[in-house]
Amino acid sequence: MTTLNSELLIEPEMFRSNISYIKNRINPSSKFMSVIKSDAYGHHLESIVKDVDDLSDGYGVVRTDEALKIRLLSKKKILLMQGIYNDKDYKLARENNFDIVVHNSDQFNLIKKHNNYENLWFKVNTGMNRLGFDIDEFMDIYNKYLTSTKFTLMTHLASSNDPEAESNAKQFSLFENLHKRLHADVCLSIANTGCIMNFPEKSYDWVRCGIGIYGGYLNDPNIKTAMTLRSPIVNLRSISKGEGVGYDGRAIADKNMKIASVYLGYADGLPVGIKDGTKVLINGSEAQIFGKVSMDLTTIDVTNLKECNVGDWCEFFSPSLPISNIAKSNDLISYYLMTSIKSRVKKIYKNIN
Ligand SMILES: *Cc1c(COP(=O)(O)O)cnc(C)c1O
Repeated sequence: MTTLNSELLIEPEMFRSNISYIKNRINPSSKFMSVIKSDAYGHHLESIVKDVDDLSDGYGVVRTDEALKIRLLSKKKILLMQGIYNDKDYKLARENNFDIVVHNSDQFNLIKKHNNYENLWFKVNTGMNRLGFDIDEFMDIYNKYLTSTKFTLMTHLASSNDPEAESNAKQFSLFENLHKRLHADVCLSIANTGCIMNFPEKSYDWVRCGIGIYGGYLNDPNIKTAMTLRSPIVNLRSISKGEGVGYDGRAIADKNMKIASVYLGYADGLPVGIKDGTKVLINGSEAQIFGKVSMDLTTIDVTNLKECNVGDWCEFFSPSLPISNIAKSNDLISYYLMTSIKSRVKKIYKNIN
């Protein structure tokens, strides 16, 4: 064994192939916004900008400090997807040519004060009930200030991953009916990854794609997980039928078994609630988590593995073991797993070949 460390390998080739695949689904005239908020969903913001800049028409973030980092690396459009909350951020956004989302009247008052209506995106609430103007409230602003201004109208779907959800049709129809009341130069944006995949005809002027770039989208095997979370086996032991493994004896051997302890636990970002039976990969073969995840260790049933030694890597997710598998089998979402990895895991960002 070389070093005792868990690793997060990031493969930018995967971002590129995922983006190309997703772009093939959308209207050729739609622009592609790479959503790289929250440190590019845990994949390292600054590295990714260099590797996807030629494939992106713009970037979406929520924090001004992230937008500033991108501006040093790219001249493309940068959208502050939750807008700005004070004069200082307003000034900073204008100085750096960021586009600004306006989602409520406090934010609009800030804009109004500076009397500059360029590069604005107005977010309307069509049923998510989180951010966005109600339709009537937006129409008041529109009639007073925006009738001859170019802007983008946006909204966000609550259930884009579920093509059957009734809320989607309701949200589309509210959005489209509103659009009909506006002048012809207004741009539209509604699609996140789930919407692009399930309703590609709704790609309009801008798609805002996050999870698909990183490969966390559930329902399409062509989209590949770009990060590998792996850690070495540090101990192997045989146990007899009836013995318990790990805290609270949650896992009880129903036969004689071989158990591997892997050097990664919830302090590395693997959720403590991960269930027995969750699949991992060791030397290319599937094995299962067996026993409660502890702070620094996770126990794996390797009884059926032909090849398994101390020092071998155990992969929790990777391009060959989609992150959506572990998410789905544990009632989690891949967004959560990607953004949960802790700093003590060694992050290795590979170079593009
Ligand atoms: C995060 C975010 C997205 C990206 O969503 P994905 O499901 O990751 O594609 C799109 N739009 C807004 C406003 C967001 O905040």
